[in-house]
Amino acid sequence: MEITNAEFVISNTDVKKCPAGIFPEYAFIGRSNVGKSSLINMLTGRKGLAMTSATPGKTMLINHFLINHSWYIVDLPGYGYARRGQKGKTQIQRIIEDYILEREQMTNLFLLIDSRLDPQTIDLEFMEWLGEHGVPFSIVFTKGDKLKGGRLNTNIQQYLKKLKEQWEELPPYFVTSSENRMGRKELLDYIESINKE
Ligand code: GDP
Repeated sequence: MEITNAEFVISNTDVKKCPAGIFPEYAFIGRSNVGKSSLINMLTGRKGLAMTSATPGKTMLINHFLINHSWYIVDLPGYGYARRGQKGKTQIQRIIEDYILEREQMTNLFLLIDSRLDPQTIDLEFMEWLGEHGVPFSIVFTKGDKLKGGRLNTNIQQYLKKLKEQWEELPPYFVTSSENRMGRKELLDYIESINKE
């Protein structure tokens, strides 16, 4: 699939104010600085579409981008996910959970993971939560250009090995780079295949 049209529609903090209609939504989430805005800009081919970490005040918002007049990319707030049972959920966590659990149009969640890092508790717990709630999700490893030679592959295999301890079946995963557009076609084709279902 090629993206021929991408337009910003609305930013808000309330799932009830997200756009009406039945267009499918593909949401992107990850810890701050994981490369989410860069990835959205790379996928859409629009450099300034999603605001990068350098933009102040962008942290709390659910951003809707209408793609090819027929589906949405949804940019969710960067998370710092609190442990289960911990009192006092942050406002961001509430926004994220409300969107993921209440938004019927949400078709697939892409969870972004920095390909250079070892598995982080915060991400593993978040995946566990997604599994408990039956949320369809995929993993997107980011910044794939930063590890040279075989190190990228080694790191990803180690990550998947760790996940296999937790999951009977691994979610689909993609290895991407916003610098050299690695993984772009695979990710867009995956979205297209779900859209056709
Ligand atoms: P966000 O907070 O998740 O939206 O992250 P950003 O997209 O703002 O990226 C955080 C930082 O990582 C910025 O300095 C980006 O330039 C850098 N970055 C993001 N993606 C890539 C990538 O694929 N390759 C490299 N080398 N740097 C990246």
